Amino acid sequence: MIFSLTHTYLQIATVIWLFVWNQTLVSGFSASHTSDIATSRSYDAPPQTNTAAAIKTKWLIVGGGIHGVHISARLLGSGVVSSIEDICIIDGHDELLQSWKRRTRGTGMEYLRSSAGYHLDLNENSLRSFDQKTTTATASEDNSNINIKKRGKNLRGVHKDKQRRSSLFSNDYERPRLDFFNNHCDEVKVQVSMVDSCEMVDYHAKQIVLALGNAEPSIPAWVDESDLQQNGLVTHLLEDNNIDHNTVVGQSDDDSCNNIKIAIIGGGITAAHKALQLARKSSSNRQDDTESKSPAIHLISRHPLREQQFDTHQDWMMDQAASKRSKDGGGYGLPKKQVLYQKCDCLKERRQIIAEERIPGTLTPAVYRGDHGLKYAIQKGEIGWHQAYVVEKERVPNRNGKEDDQMILKLSCGESIQVDRVLLATGFDKILPGGKMIQNLINDNSELNVSDFCGYPIVSEHLRWSDRVFVAGALAELELGPSARNIAGARLAAERIVQAFVRA
Ligand SMILES: Cc1cc2nc3c(=O)[nH]c(=O)nc-3n(C[C@H](O)[C@H](O)[C@H](O)COP(=O)(O)OP(=O)(O)OC[C@H]3O[C@@H](n4cnc5c(N)ncnc54)[C@H](O)[C@@H]3O)c2cc1C
Repeated sequence: MIFSLTHTYLQIATVIWLFVWNQTLVSGFSASHTSDIATSRSYDAPPQTNTAAAIKTKWLIVGGGIHGVHISARLLGSGVVSSIEDICIIDGHDELLQSWKRRTRGTGMEYLRSSAGYHLDLNENSLRSFDQKTTTATASEDNSNINIKKRGKNLRGVHKDKQRRSSLFSNDYERPRLDFFNNHCDEVKVQVSMVDSCEMVDYHAKQIVLALGNAEPSIPAWVDESDLQQNGLVTHLLEDNNIDHNTVVGQSDDDSCNNIKIAIIGGGITAAHKALQLARKSSSNRQDDTESKSPAIHLISRHPLREQQFDTHQDWMMDQAASKRSKDGGGYGLPKKQVLYQKCDCLKERRQIIAEERIPGTLTPAVYRGDHGLKYAIQKGEIGWHQAYVVEKERVPNRNGKEDDQMILKLSCGESIQVDRVLLATGFDKILPGGKMIQNLINDNSELNVSDFCGYPIVSEHLRWSDRVFVAGALAELELGPSARNIAGARLAAERIVQAFVRA
């Protein structure tokens, strides 16, 4: 018994050693955490030769984003993991969900694209009832004076309450407001316990979940390293490592960004959110400035602006619990698309289905045609829209003669525009996430199978990549289908991983 346990730990230690060796130098981890889910910070750092401290944990979750956090919450909530002491999340950031929060804030989005049923808590209605909880709290504060208030005033309170509730969710598809969604995330029994030790730690885990998120932000070939380094002349909106929140364009109250020309590259919702945010700011600043007629914000996209409610159809998002509820209520249960996908044995075909069903570079109707939508901002000349790609760029001095401070973008449509800043909204690289760490794991562990066609992990129904390694997010795409990367995908992944233990 002792031997087999030791053997298990040794096997896993090999895997974790690879994390440490290739990418993740894990900081010290306190054994006396007080938080619900503990997290340690990991760094990209060269391997150290000194002896590392060894920590045993039953569950190691690599990645403290939307997926890692929800899976941890579900493992605990379902009883598969009985104590918070048995689960540990490691991440390269200082806090859980930092990447999500920075990226979404950086885009300037107000509402999520997905609807209220997709969040980090276990109960599907948790976000909706969180709304009730917060609004009821406000209502009861109002009601504390109920006896001395006149009837009219109370009615006004109810009206205000209704207004407030309606602003927490969009009118279409009940999409939550970003700040409200994030408050709910913070409530999902997740608190951070960081230990700022630079000591190297080997984790010995019985089970590992790889929840690494997407690959790196995609940088167009015409952008040089020096463009990215030079005073933020070119910045990727989804690059979260060096985002300083006070200087994110459009977020700053210091108006140094206000009288400048900005080009946004991309034709999806990220580009649209940012363009609208900047255009709002720019037009409010230019009320007195009648001289300048050309827009300060330019949107450059290779394709026409395309409308689509979700990047993946909701048919791909139904989990098995919802399917059961549907059946119990006389419905069809799991949508046909999902059933056929599960039956398909050919990984190449699965990849093709994902490519067809997951459409990047689209806008919700609300962002395009809703109140103050992109379409109208373009018509009013607040945003300059160019259907083109950048053919060439040239760095030039700015108005004050400061060298290399502006960029001329020559576009495929024949136009040239001179701008002070370029913001890339070009999504993520379409390659296997996890970089060298995952590549080395695959090379060194013959049991970690990948598709010959796309190189993504081949996993079991329960998302097992090997006996003790599970995957989530993009890494689980071939099993979960086109919604694997979304919040819905986190819920699908958590359900499958939990089932591996509940059924056994
Ligand atoms: C701007 C934006 C808006 C979006 N809006 C929606 C929406 O409305 N609805 C929806 O369903 N989806 C949305 N998505 C898509 C998706 O839900 C998010 O991208 C989500 O953050 C994915 O969660 P994740 O945990 O897979 O990745 P992330 O949130 O990126 O988390 C991954 C974590 O893993 C860590 N990590 C990676 N490698 C290592 C390593 N080797 N060692 C340690 N840690 C590591 C990273 O530091 C990171 O913290 C949006 C995405 C973006 C970018």
